[in-house]
Amino acid sequence: MTESVTNWAGNITYAARELHRPGSLDALSALVAAHPKVRVLGSGHSFNEIAEAGADGVLVSLSAVPAEVDVDTAARTVRVGGGVRYAELARVVHEHGLALHNMASLPHISVAGSVATGTHGSGVANGSLASAVREVELITADGSTLRIGRGDRRFDGAVTALGALGVVSALTLDLEPDFRVEQHVFTELPLEGLDFETVAATAYSVSLFTDWREPGFRQVWLKRRTDQPLPDFPWARPATEAMHPVPGMPAVNCTRQFGVPGPWHERLPHFRADFVPSSGAELQSEYLLPRPYALEALHALDAIRTTVAPVLQTCEVRTIAADAQWLSPAYGRDSVALHFTWVEDTAAVLPVVRRLEEALDAFEARPHWGKVFTVPARTLHARYPRLADFAALAAELDPSGKFRNAFVGDVLEPAETTP
Ligand SMILES: Cc1cc2nc3c(=O)[nH]c(=O)nc-3n(C[C@H](O)[C@H](O)[C@H](O)COP(=O)(O)OP(=O)(O)OC[C@H]3O[C@@H](n4cnc5c(N)ncnc54)[C@H](O)[C@@H]3O)c2cc1C
Repeated sequence: MTESVTNWAGNITYAARELHRPGSLDALSALVAAHPKVRVLGSGHSFNEIAEAGADGVLVSLSAVPAEVDVDTAARTVRVGGGVRYAELARVVHEHGLALHNMASLPHISVAGSVATGTHGSGVANGSLASAVREVELITADGSTLRIGRGDRRFDGAVTALGALGVVSALTLDLEPDFRVEQHVFTELPLEGLDFETVAATAYSVSLFTDWREPGFRQVWLKRRTDQPLPDFPWARPATEAMHPVPGMPAVNCTRQFGVPGPWHERLPHFRADFVPSSGAELQSEYLLPRPYALEALHALDAIRTTVAPVLQTCEVRTIAADAQWLSPAYGRDSVALHFTWVEDTAAVLPVVRRLEEALDAFEARPHWGKVFTVPARTLHARYPRLADFAALAAELDPSGKFRNAFVGDVLEPAETTP
C-alpha cells in the first residue's frame, strides 16, 4: 500500500512510503525490532520534519493500538497509551474527579507527541505538559520494553526526547484534584507602560494576543481557577463579544468566555474538543526566552512589526515555569513564550522567521521543537547545556540510530563532535 502522508498543516509530506498502524503493542514491538529506521507519527500537529522517517524508514502510527487511559484515583496518577490525545485523556481524568495541571491551546494533539516536543500551556507557576510525567514506557530498538521513572538518572532526558529514544508506548502522569476555571477576555492592552510580570501573574493562565498591526495587544485571555481570587484587571477593557485569537474569526470553536465557570479541560485549552479542525491553513513558530527578558523582547518585536504583520495571523505571549527536562525549551529558566501563527505560505513566512530570530537572538531564544524555525544546530547547542548528556543517552538506548532521523541528527551532531 502506498499513501501520501502529510502533517495536519499540510506543509510536510513525509518521505516514508507507508504509514504502519499495528493493532497491538506486540505487533508494534515486532515491527520496531524488524526495521532499521523507525519514527512515530503522533497526531501530526508539528510543523517541521521532526516526525520524518526518511524514504528508507518506517513511519508508525499508534492510532490502531487499543487506547489506554487508566486512572489510579488513590495515587492520583493516570497511565496513558502512546497514541492517546489530550481530549480523550482529559475526559476520563475529569470523570474520576481529577485534573491535569494544564493543557495546550488545542486538545486534539497527542499526549506522547506533545511531551516529546516540550508543548506547554500558560501560567507563571505551570510547567510544560512534560512536567506532569512521572514515568515513560519505551519500546526500544530491539523491541523490548523499558520503563524510566522519576529518580532514574536517565529520566530528565527521557520525556522531552523528540522521539529519539524509542516508541513511547505509555506515559504515567501526575494528577491533581478536579478544579474549575473561568475565562475572562479583555481587549486593547497597551505595550507602553506594560508591567509584564504583574499582568502575567494575574490569573492561573494568562495569554496576550496581537497581530502586530498596531503596538500593544488586541486581546488578553485570563483563565482563573475558581478556588483562586478574582483578579482586578484595570489595564484593558472587558470584551463585549466572544473572541477568537485571530482577529475577525468567528469564536464558535473557542472555549466558553465571559467568566462562565466550567471544568478545567473545557477552559484551559482555547479551542473546544468537540470542534475538530480537519487541517490547518497556517504555519506556526514559537520561541521561549528567560522571562526577565519579556518586556525588552516585546519591544524588539514591536520594532519589526511592519515586517512581521503582513504574514501573521496572530501572536500569542504565554509564560511557562522552569523544568528539568534536558531538551525542554523551558529547561532551567522561568520562560516567556512568543508564539506566531503565520499564513500558510512557507516561501513568504521563512524570511520573516529569519528576521524574527535575528531580533530574538540577544534573548537566548530556544525554538519550540515542533514548529517552524531556522536557528542553526550550533546555536541550539549553546542554548541547551545538557544536550551532550542527551546525545549520550540516545547513543546508550539506541546505539544503531534506529530512531534518529535527519532532524534529530542535526540537533545532536554538534554535541557529539564537541570535545
Ligand atoms: C493548532 C495547533 C495548536 C497548537 N497549540 C500548541 C500549544 O498551545 N502549545 C504548544 O507548546 N504547542 C502547540 N502546538 C504544537 C504541538 O503541540 C506540537 O507540535 C506537538 O508535538 C504535537 O504533537 P503530535 O503528536 O501532533 O505531533 P507529531 O508531529 O505527530 O509528533 C511530534 C514528535 O513526537 C514524536 N512522537 C509522537 N508520538 C510518539 C510516540 N508515541 N513515541 C515516540 N515519539 C512520538 C514524533 O516522532 C515527533 O518527533 C500546536 C499545534 C497545532 C497544530
